[in-house]
Amino acid sequence: MADLPTLGRRIRHFRTAAGLTLEELGARIDVAPSQLSLIENARREPRLTLLTDLARAVGVTVADLLDESPPDERSALEIDLERAQSRAAYRELGLPTVRPSKGMADDVLRALVGLHGELDRRARLAIATPEEARRANTRQRRAMQAVDSHLPEIEALASRDVEAVGHRGGALTHRTVSLMAERMGLDLVHVGDLPHSARCVLDLENGRIYLPPASIPGGHGLRSLALQSMAHLVLGHGEPTDYADFLRQRQEASYYAAACLMPLGPTIAFLEQAKQERNIAIEDLRDAFGVTHEAAALRFTNLATSRLGIPVHFLRVDGDGSVMRAYENDGLPLPVDATGSTEGQLVCRHWSARNAFSRSTRTTEYYQYTDTPKGTFFEATQTGQGDSDEFSITVGVPYQESKWFRGRETGHRASSRCPDLTCCRRPEPGSVERWHGRAWASARVHAHIFSPLPQGTYPGIDDRELYDFLESHSPGTAADG
Ligand SMILES: [Zn+2]
Repeated sequence: MADLPTLGRRIRHFRTAAGLTLEELGARIDVAPSQLSLIENARREPRLTLLTDLARAVGVTVADLLDESPPDERSALEIDLERAQSRAAYRELGLPTVRPSKGMADDVLRALVGLHGELDRRARLAIATPEEARRANTRQRRAMQAVDSHLPEIEALASRDVEAVGHRGGALTHRTVSLMAERMGLDLVHVGDLPHSARCVLDLENGRIYLPPASIPGGHGLRSLALQSMAHLVLGHGEPTDYADFLRQRQEASYYAAACLMPLGPTIAFLEQAKQERNIAIEDLRDAFGVTHEAAALRFTNLATSRLGIPVHFLRVDGDGSVMRAYENDGLPLPVDATGSTEGQLVCRHWSARNAFSRSTRTTEYYQYTDTPKGTFFEATQTGQGDSDEFSITVGVPYQESKWFRGRETGHRASSRCPDLTCCRRPEPGSVERWHGRAWASARVHAHIFSPLPQGTYPGIDDRELYDFLESHSPGTAADG
């Protein structure tokens, strides 16, 4: 059955078009005018036999009545207004319900419907709860996995734009980025007083991209920021309709920026050469194109499978072992929560992403073979220092693909049984017996929103870590056993 408000309005539309009053139509089909009025006002659902009579009486088909589009613009506005006013978000405001009467001007109706639409859009954008955010994030990761993290349309746009300013390969300079902006009618302006919540600001009215001062450490991040701003124009992004849309736009903008900094042609040439020499290394890609290790690693995931035929995984892991960002299409068993989200989950402490933290020299990549229930993987990890905490960037591939990579002769080998809790999460039975109820620790609160608290005996505390700590710092451990 069609949507009642639309059906009611279509019946009224065809009745008045046939020049019939409610009384006249009622007389023709032997139905009380009050009943017809209820149907036209969407208060009652007509039976199919009545619809057949109605259609014949006004000279149309039943299909005409059941068509799902409003009969005219005015009706469409009236239906929209009724729908908007019936939503819980509007009812909660305790404001009166306005009935779109005949006397109400189209403009008034249009303004009301417009305001409701904007109210609804803002509400949906604002209520992205952490759980919704996690679900949206998971859907996004799976969508990228389905296309091997490769977006050909954006590759083509980025290649077109860097070639248009005469860039032929190697690192994309600040000057080149300025030229690209100029072609789009934009100036790059560096300011020291950006809003705290903004990384950069695109002023469409005046054709400007406001960026932090160039003197900030890690200046190459500025090129990426400027390119991400430009991406919103190139990719025709509007205001995001909800959190998932916001995430998608952000991912596309980052992709465009990365594909400009490491354009498809030169990057593939570089990687194919490295593959031929069996010497693929993210650190080389990073240095050749003058980008961060993370940017190079992510760019590698865009191209590895689709262009080099190598399945791959990527991990950015926090100093405490939790996932900040992850991607895989090679079967690596990522830690996930009940919603399928991996952000904030602890990776196995035997994985390269965490073992790399314990190395004393961290200037080069750390290599490791990791046995998991899903097979053996070769991984290369680079550690770094963020604003508040250290982190590690890992790129890994299934064992049989390690032959293309630098570091494959490493002697580092680890075995992981995660998600089996006995692998590295459950405390040793002796420790539990000894320490349960005899210690207390206060949880460090996580900075990033995606991290739920680790689940242990104490809220927010990883039991294993706590007990290990206690074991190693306790005086006379051996004697007390
Ligand atoms: Zn483990």
